[in-house]
Amino acid sequence: RERLHRSRERLADRVDRLVLGKKTIDADVMDDLEEILITSDLGVQATQLLLERVSDRVKRKELQDPARLREALREEIARILSVDAPPFDPAAAKPFVIMVIGVNGVGKTTTIGKLARRIKTSGLSPLLVAGDTFRAAAIEQLERWGERIDVPVIRQKSGADPSAVAFDALDAAQARKADVVIVDTAGRMHTKVNLMEELKKVHRVIQKKMPTAPHEILLVLDATTGQNAISQARLFREAMNITGLILTKLDGTAKGGVIVPICHELKLPVRFIGIGEGMDDLRPFDPREFAEALL
Ligand code: GDP
Repeated sequence: RERLHRSRERLADRVDRLVLGKKTIDADVMDDLEEILITSDLGVQATQLLLERVSDRVKRKELQDPARLREALREEIARILSVDAPPFDPAAAKPFVIMVIGVNGVGKTTTIGKLARRIKTSGLSPLLVAGDTFRAAAIEQLERWGERIDVPVIRQKSGADPSAVAFDALDAAQARKADVVIVDTAGRMHTKVNLMEELKKVHRVIQKKMPTAPHEILLVLDATTGQNAISQARLFREAMNITGLILTKLDGTAKGGVIVPICHELKLPVRFIGIGEGMDDLRPFDPREFAEALL
């Protein structure tokens, strides 16, 4: 909550300033509110939806006091963020296979380390798979995380076929009786088509080995990139059957609002949020708590 504060200041303070001294929620207030929401990375569509819902409340006389506008917005935002989806349950299969996808630099490797740490703390044994064989540095980084949190990492040399690494990793998971397999993947965007084909291939190989897997395909997005995060979500969504999102870097940004249009448009649940670089800086996403931090 503390670290999410920065997102909060801006939007909450602006709404507070907007209603200061106002007696009713009139058209002027709604116009100003529209501008505040759009410039807070909530995007046009989600802003329109929020304005409609607020207007409805005003019309129904459920909402009249401008001082309660913020609370109403908070409730409506929480509603948008509460995407209907099965819970994230890594104990639901063995091994439970999680594919983690996303563009380079969004915090994918760090997130995988943090997620493995959470899973380990919960009493399950994770196994990491260095599937971004394109970058030697990515393999090394994942290995460092493995050492740090004492979790095994399955790797091959850089340049190896990522789907072959995933295939071997599933064997290794069975041999080691791992509960959860977390597969890192490449994220180089300059070869978009190749990247998506590669991800699909990794997916196919995993599925061939274990028909119910992958059980989760998590897309990692960097919240500080605002609208870019939305375009990335659209792009990956076209190629992959994403089951959930992880938003990173919410500690240092006033752009956390970008989660709202992403949830609204893609109807994908946010599974976790990253709020720092440390191993314990990954939190389950709570729509209500997040809406409160934002507003
Ligand atoms: P990848 O290229 O997607 O694997 O990205 P990395 O995991 O290497 O992360 C890129 C940078 O973002 C690193 O410096 C991470 O420490 C940093 N990072 C990742 N997640 C967070 C987060 O939640 N908050 C902050 N402040 N930094 C993060």
